[in-house]
Amino acid sequence: MTSERHPGKAKQAFLAILARRGIKDKRVLEAMEAVPREAFVGARQTRYAYDDSPLPIEEGQTISQPYIVALMTEAMQLEPDNTVLEIGSGSGYAAAVLSRIVKQVYTIERHPMLAKLARERLADLGYDNVRVLCGDGTLGWPEHAPFDAIVVTAGGPRVPESLVRQLVIGGRLVIPTGPAIHQQKLLRITRVSEDETESEDLGGVRFVPLIGEEGWRDTEGRMTTPSPKKG
Ligand code: SAM
Repeated sequence: MTSERHPGKAKQAFLAILARRGIKDKRVLEAMEAVPREAFVGARQTRYAYDDSPLPIEEGQTISQPYIVALMTEAMQLEPDNTVLEIGSGSGYAAAVLSRIVKQVYTIERHPMLAKLARERLADLGYDNVRVLCGDGTLGWPEHAPFDAIVVTAGGPRVPESLVRQLVIGGRLVIPTGPAIHQQKLLRITRVSEDETESEDLGGVRFVPLIGEEGWRDTEGRMTTPSPKKG
């Protein structure tokens, strides 16, 4: 399917895969068509840019599988006037896709080098409604809250309370969580009132770990869970 000589054909095949796998939201499909995934991967990965698979990026991280990016974006039930927070900027690709659908995107990355590369890449490509912060995304970005939707592109042991608190009432948090480091359930948490949420299970996924105050603790390469917050 991958073709350096016919990138247009490769992209059409890639869009057909997304549709076949059940992505229906026209705005999501249009955004995936508009954003050049090849510009978010290294030169050695360019030929695989329109394969439906994750690819390695710097710092031992990954650019997510396109189907998963589309699935999570669709699950956020976005409207054009929405403000969205993404945790885990990685290459900046998913932020670019989101920026084609909503008014404003904020994205946080814990690795300084990835945050810098994503910021420069997004600016060079003209995605001027995206702001990139380097920091611990499990704590959100309180200065710009509340958000209509939040997406977390790394898997944590549980749902970070700080993120739920930064949603508008009616806002959606799409997040992979679970007790295993590399295997999670994808959840959509809807904040239905000040203190209540509803949770839907969208199926099994495999993400790199969400490391931070309300994620996994990286203790010399060993992942441990933080003790539960006391009310
Ligand atoms: N959305 C990215 C893209 O489009 O390229 C892919 C993200 S990659 C699967 C997950 C990212 O989450 C990694 O870059 C990792 O460094 C980052 N990450 C993990 N824990 C984090 C945290 N607490 N705050 C911010 N970023 C975090």
